[in-house]
Amino acid sequence: MDYALIGKIEKAKVYAAEPERFTFDSFSVRLSGDNDSVHSITYDHGAWQCDCSFFGTRGYCSHSMAMERLLGNMLPEAVTQ
Ligand SMILES: [Zn+2]
Repeated sequence: MDYALIGKIEKAKVYAAEPERFTFDSFSVRLSGDNDSVHSITYDHGAWQCDCSFFGTRGYCSHSMAMERLLGNMLPEAVTQ
């Protein structure tokens, strides 16, 4: 039995239960939309970007809003461009 690994797993459970410990700086995601479309969404220090045409005109879209809903309070207050 690997006791060191058991300790790490327990620590991971504690961290995962405390989302305020995490700060997302930047990431990119591909979202499978309807009609076989795939959208690229990026997040960089509070600013969203998406490659869809709606985002281009409004600065937000169903894809960026879906990510906000998915991550909930894991993100600092989002700023859309
Ligand atoms: Zn979009």
